[in-house]
Amino acid sequence: MNLPQDDLTSQPTEITKDVQTADYDFHRCKLCAEYAASPKYRLKKTTVYACAACGFHFINHLDSVPSEPPCGSTLTLDRKSWDYIEGRLPASETQLRKNLLLVKRHVSLTGATCLDIGAGAGMFVHLLTESGAFAHGIEPQWIFREFAQRKFGVELNGETIDAPRWQQECVGYFDVVTLWDVFEHVDFPAETLRNAYNVLKPGGWLFLDTPRRDALFYRICEWSYRLSSGANSRLLESLYSPLPYRHKQIFTCRQLLKLAGETGFSVTHLRSSLFQPHNKMVLVCRKS
Ligand SMILES: [Zn+2]
Repeated sequence: MNLPQDDLTSQPTEITKDVQTADYDFHRCKLCAEYAASPKYRLKKTTVYACAACGFHFINHLDSVPSEPPCGSTLTLDRKSWDYIEGRLPASETQLRKNLLLVKRHVSLTGATCLDIGAGAGMFVHLLTESGAFAHGIEPQWIFREFAQRKFGVELNGETIDAPRWQQECVGYFDVVTLWDVFEHVDFPAETLRNAYNVLKPGGWLFLDTPRRDALFYRICEWSYRLSSGANSRLLESLYSPLPYRHKQIFTCRQLLKLAGETGFSVTHLRSSLFQPHNKMVLVCRKS
């Protein structure tokens, strides 16, 4: 998901039925599975839980099943949504072209099988295809899939990476899997990483970027909350949201490296800075 999607989630054509959040006990840490999590920051629309066992931070929200247009509907992407997505493409393209260079520094894309998880508007799948790869993309939101098809001629798949379509039919299939700005959005990131591992060939590459919780900006957000005894939650509100497909968790660098290692990956490259403007870390790792 390479684009901000807050405006789109309120579109009348979107159907969101929250069925999972009520079924999950958020005292159970989404990372280490210990019943050691408790509310740490109470924001206006959501609560950030922190795990006493592993230090993971996550909000008390899960997404519903992927949204689809009503069965038999002839709804299509409306003009407002199209303009919204298209208007954000230039900024997205600049970043994704940098990401493409990173991938090319590690892998020859000619003939490579690639999967972009959380493909958004399809731009990265398009760039991979232009580079000679056999590229596939997963995007749960149909409005983005329709945009990708009409804009780039890219057919994205709506089935998420845990679906049998991937976990039974594509085991060990891909040379490259990418997760750009996705890891903070998924319901269960450890499971997503494990599923990504499963579809990679031995020696296959995984590329991921995600915000970093031990960055300076996050700490400033926490200080602001604490110093005001919770009254000023505005900065933390900018990092988390219970809206569909928004930020649900933010990893520290150490947590991400530990998870990658436990999943079976060998980390070959980590780019991160405590002072980066977007507080991002970029991980490159390889299936053993
Ligand atoms: Zn934990």
